[in-house]
Amino acid sequence: MSAEEQTDPQRMEKIVSLCKRRGFIFQSGEIYGGLNGVWDYGPLGAELKRNLKDYWWRVMVRERDDIVGLDGSILTHRAVLKASGHEDTFSDPMVDCRTCNARLRADQLPEKNGAPQCPSCGGKDLTEPRAFNLMFRTNMGASEDESSVAYLRPETAQSIFVQFKNVLDTARKKLPFGIAQIGKAFRNEINPRNYIFRSREFEQMELEYFCAPDDGMRLLDYWLEERLRFYENIGIPRTKLHVLTVPDADRAFYSKGTYDIEYEFPFGVQELEGVAYRTDYDLMAHQNASGKPLEYFDEETKAKFVPHVVEPSAGVDRTLLALICEAYDEETITDEKGKSETRTVMRFHPRMAPIKVGVFPLLKNKPELVAKAREAHALLKSHMMTFYDEAGAIGRRYRRQDEAGTPFCLTIDFETLGERGDELRDTVTLRYRDSMKQERVKIADLLTTLLPQVL
Ligand code: ATP
Repeated sequence: MSAEEQTDPQRMEKIVSLCKRRGFIFQSGEIYGGLNGVWDYGPLGAELKRNLKDYWWRVMVRERDDIVGLDGSILTHRAVLKASGHEDTFSDPMVDCRTCNARLRADQLPEKNGAPQCPSCGGKDLTEPRAFNLMFRTNMGASEDESSVAYLRPETAQSIFVQFKNVLDTARKKLPFGIAQIGKAFRNEINPRNYIFRSREFEQMELEYFCAPDDGMRLLDYWLEERLRFYENIGIPRTKLHVLTVPDADRAFYSKGTYDIEYEFPFGVQELEGVAYRTDYDLMAHQNASGKPLEYFDEETKAKFVPHVVEPSAGVDRTLLALICEAYDEETITDEKGKSETRTVMRFHPRMAPIKVGVFPLLKNKPELVAKAREAHALLKSHMMTFYDEAGAIGRRYRRQDEAGTPFCLTIDFETLGERGDELRDTVTLRYRDSMKQERVKIADLLTTLLPQVL
């Protein structure tokens, strides 16, 4: 069986259960029965998400001279999405099941004996497909008529195109240069599914990289490589990534080349990110509709033209799910007494791990141990996410951090207090999540030992 066809529903169930149990992800409005396709991130999920977005921003904006950031509004002028084509064509084909009234995405129906079937009731009496627009529409201001219609943005990209001239004039960049944005997007997906993979509210990390027309194809390949390297640097190995060259027939008519970067999820190989060479389609569309020039003047050649653009567009939530799926591991370990047990461990890259260090006093009823542990905690907590825990046996505390994916744990014990000689005074046990190996480290060296590993 090829990787594309392989699925592992059991593994997915375990991952979903761990995410709830440990506080990564909860269903939105759960106590009221839940809101379909909408999710809340718990304490660990919020940290993981922040680490992912911060790292993307760091490598895409802060560490580069040719990219600047934007934080555009979610509420979007109707004219923007009319000009971009979303109001007329941003839709999926939908059918109704005449037996159970379910509304279904026509291109994702299971088939039985060659005929499409309703996944809810198995019925085959389906309507003809019709276009269902995925945008969330709202009204702004006090009157609820056509003149007050606005949309929640279905992608972050449009505000980048619409603000292109303002950014160009204020940031004074020369081509090629990019504008990056991270933020929420909303799509009224007909059938949200696969946990957080296809949601109705999600976040995107998008770059619009503007260039001269003859540079587009080169930059398409450049950005594909950059983005693959990004995934490797957050702990998703290249062997689990697939690059799909989108065939001519499936590409948007304006795109001269598109790659989909896909990951081997337990529910199949699915898209994480699209990298597309969109030519000058978007800026041209807004220039034509607004009547405002969105051109670039090249000082050297004295040419004036509408730039072309290459767009790497990634989903925060999908990447987060890939990180979680990649990290999940179970192993059998045997203790000194020969007893075997299953250890569940989230092997996040330390850079992504929600908590970097667990800090434990060996015993909670020894004030000297607690004071020392608090001291070590205070030393670290303004530099990285830490977790102080004094409840329960030390082995249980390690296991809890294994499930949270914490790469390092520190235990403050009697050696730290100098009770086994001066040599070990002010040292702690540093325990590594993956190997479970332990070593003694001076409290004074903790920051220089740990910080480079988590950045
Ligand atoms: P799909 O074909 O899976 O619906 P798409 O090709 O329409 O996705 P794009 O419009 O290219 O997606 O959006 C860019 C990225 O935004 C996607 O690669 C994905 O990571 C993310 N994304 C899009 N729709 C959703 C969604 N409903 N839930 C979560 N992430 C999404």
